[in-house]
Formats: sequence, structure tokens, C-alpha cells
Amino acid sequence: MNCYCGEDLAFRDCCGRYISGSQLAPTAEALMRSRYSAFKVGNADYLLASLHPSKRASESRESLEQSFANTQWCSLRILSRRNGQSGQTAGEVEFVAFYRSGEEIGQLHERSRFVCENNQWLYSDGDMLPALKLGRNDECWCGSGLKLKKCHPD
Ligand SMILES: [Zn+2]
Ligand SMILES: [Zn+2]
Repeated sequence: MNCYCGEDLAFRDCCGRYISGSQLAPTAEALMRSRYSAFKVGNADYLLASLHPSKRASESRESLEQSFANTQWCSLRILSRRNGQSGQTAGEVEFVAFYRSGEEIGQLHERSRFVCENNQWLYSDGDMLPALKLGRNDECWCGSGLKLKKCHPD
């Protein structure tokens, strides 16, 4: 069974280790993946704790909990990464996350910035990027692993 973040590992051996607090995410990408999984499992505490302290005032538990109720995250794709390795102090991860909100399929395409303080990676902020256009031969947004044309033939 894959982790919510799409890695070929069980949740407890992947993002679950970081969300439970038993280990610190070793890289910016691991933190990013675990934040995606925290949205899947509805863990506002982890999302707040993994946010840089200077940004916590702009995020509220209420708005996170509302988003858990309204948004169903379908799949995550990491598109690129810069730095963010263990021993470094900053990194960037570009990703696209597909979601369903009511009848609508949407995507969050973002280049996120992370900083590492006291061995702990934290999400700082990010730039929203234009939505990706999916072709029929691209992997489906729903996380099935199938090509779009095979997954939802018209
Ligand atoms: Zn994971
Ligand atoms: Zn699909």
C-alpha cells in the first residue's frame, strides 16, 4: 500500500513517522510530502507545527479544519527540487497537488520554500504557478497511476 504522498511505502514508514513526531523530516521534500499527507489525514497540529513560526499567524486551525471538510486531496506529484537536503538550510520544492471540491477538480501548482532551523525543516512560503494542462497520455489527476485516457475514457 502506498503512502498518501504517493511514495511506495506504507504511511507509517513514510509520512506517518514525521506526522507522529517520532522522527524529523530529513529533507525539504520529505517535509512537503508529510504536509500533503497531513492534509489527507486532517492533522491541523502538524500543519501548524511544520509552518515557520513567522507564518503561523496567517494560518488558523479553523480554516485548516474547514479545508479538510471541503477539499478532498487526490494525488501529489513532485515536479522539481532545489537544495533542501539534509545539512542544508534552505530548499525549494515544486509540486502539483490535485483535489476535488464538490464537483470541481482543481490543482495547486506551487513552488514552496522551506528553511531548516535546529535540524527541523519548516515550510516558509510559496509562489502559486499556473495550472498544468494534462494531456490524455499524462497520469490521471485522481492518483490511480493510469493514463488519463484509460482512467476516465469519454
Ligand atoms: Zn509519504
Ligand atoms: Zn483517474
